[in-house]
Amino acid sequence: MTISINEQIYRRGYKTVYGLYVPDFKLIQTIDKLKELDTNKKMNPIHRTTIEDATHDGRAFFTSFYDLKNVPYIKHRLFKKYQISEINPLDLPIYPVKKRDEICFGALLTEFLPNKEYPIVFQGILLNSIVTELTSCSYTHEITHASLDALKGAIKEYYNAEVLSIFNELVIASILAKEERLLRALDSRRIHELDILCKELYLFSKGSISKSKDDALEDAKYIISDIRAYNLFAEYYYGSNSTKEYIISYINRIINGNSSLEELLNEFMDNKSISTNSESKLTLTPKAHKYFTR
Ligand SMILES: [Zn+2]
Repeated sequence: MTISINEQIYRRGYKTVYGLYVPDFKLIQTIDKLKELDTNKKMNPIHRTTIEDATHDGRAFFTSFYDLKNVPYIKHRLFKKYQISEINPLDLPIYPVKKRDEICFGALLTEFLPNKEYPIVFQGILLNSIVTELTSCSYTHEITHASLDALKGAIKEYYNAEVLSIFNELVIASILAKEERLLRALDSRRIHELDILCKELYLFSKGSISKSKDDALEDAKYIISDIRAYNLFAEYYYGSNSTKEYIISYINRIINGNSSLEELLNEFMDNKSISTNSESKLTLTPKAHKYFTR
């Protein structure tokens, strides 16, 4: 069932979104400069691997960092009869799909049901059948979604829905390749994504290009989540071992339903709710800026 973003916001229990976020000119300029810097950087190679190795690395990451709770899962869905069970997110089936241009392709197969107890259920994870070392990062991203997306209250704002998935993707990338090959590949991808989305959303707000309302909301979600994920990751990256442990144990509390992402963000940065352009003060922290220019 395909449902609108506003209906998803309601069903996932996020706060209602009023108005559309529009990136300010200063943010667009910052991202543009970082993109120029990135274009001139020499990238290190990313190697091919197997789906077994990629998911093994993802599973090992979750086993050592987090205490995952079971999530609702549908095995078969025939007509109006469906059978829901609760399984560990790491046991969700994986379906390979061919996506030539998307090195980090991953998606969580989600169903919205007219079921009071289980309004959101998962069916499995799609991963690019062209498997590289970055597939572990995509897998980690989707497992993080599976752990949080059906847990009402874990994330309060729709615009923050990608923060922890992107954060975990960066943490595993930093662990898998000490020389930062994977981290730099992900950074490059996100900077280019931010550059395109910021410029498009800005032009959309000026009426210069057309876009559906749902696409504009999704673009805003990725911009805000990217920025906040990197602001949080810079705290982790430059943080002491105890700061790193603190952030991970906080995320464990969120996954266990005992805290929210917004409370974690509030400890590290200005995290005002973003709804309209006049309120938007979204920016990379000095630490995140230092990280991107390292
Ligand atoms: Zn995501």
